[in-house]
Amino acid sequence: MPELPEVETARRLIADQALGRRITAVDDTDTFVCRPHSPGELRDALTGRMLTAAHRRGKAMWLETSGLGRAAVPGPDLGIHLGMSGRIVVTSQDGRSAEGGDRPGRDAQPRKAEWDRFTLKFADGGSLALFDKRRLGRIQLNPDIGALGPDAEQVTPAEFRALITKGTIAVKARLLDQSKIAGVGNLLADQALWRAKVPPATPVNRLQRKDADRLYRALRSTLASAIANGGVHTGDVIAARRPGGTCPRCGAEMVHGTVGGRSTWWCSREQAAWLLADR
Ligand SMILES: [Zn+2]
Repeated sequence: MPELPEVETARRLIADQALGRRITAVDDTDTFVCRPHSPGELRDALTGRMLTAAHRRGKAMWLETSGLGRAAVPGPDLGIHLGMSGRIVVTSQDGRSAEGGDRPGRDAQPRKAEWDRFTLKFADGGSLALFDKRRLGRIQLNPDIGALGPDAEQVTPAEFRALITKGTIAVKARLLDQSKIAGVGNLLADQALWRAKVPPATPVNRLQRKDADRLYRALRSTLASAIANGGVHTGDVIAARRPGGTCPRCGAEMVHGTVGGRSTWWCSREQAAWLLADR
């Protein structure tokens, strides 16, 4: 499932390869992925324009578009959400394609044409497509990102402390709350908590400043290495999230539970619940 690092690879791909190319056709016929727009609405809004910038906050991505012809007034923003398994495929003028987004490999082959849920065709013969076998991605004009908290890659230590430590909810549930910090999914949360040696069920008001700061640094380093290494699945504790798994740092048994409604793994020794309780 795409988390911040996967969406960032898709954003970078678009920024590198899809900007400044004139849109000559739009396939917006998938009314579920393109809801609430009716077929043709996205086509009419985008044809003749160019993508001019690619932005991201958390897992939400939006692309700026140019004015039509010589018009200085820019076009609408094109919102793209990768959903549970979406990928962006950008094809060049000479037919070579590059991909970014959810990790490839589990898609059944051969790929079916209808799994491209939304496509922009460019004047140079290339294209940009949302490849989404599970059809849980979303395309929307002028998406509302106002409900999202600051991006996990951009948030400052002071903002993080303020957003993460108020209330009594489990720290893992707070990390997953996109309205507080945007971009952290289940694997990133487990990886960052493990790096920071914070028990996932710790009530957030039990976190001292040094704990919050340690978690902040762990989240940042987790994000940086996931982006550099190709996704959240490359995190060093991810392979140990299984029955019989052992902590790659101390060798203790990994334990499993449900925290914040999500399947959660942590080190039985270094993230034991009593470590941050009653002190
Ligand atoms: Zn350990």
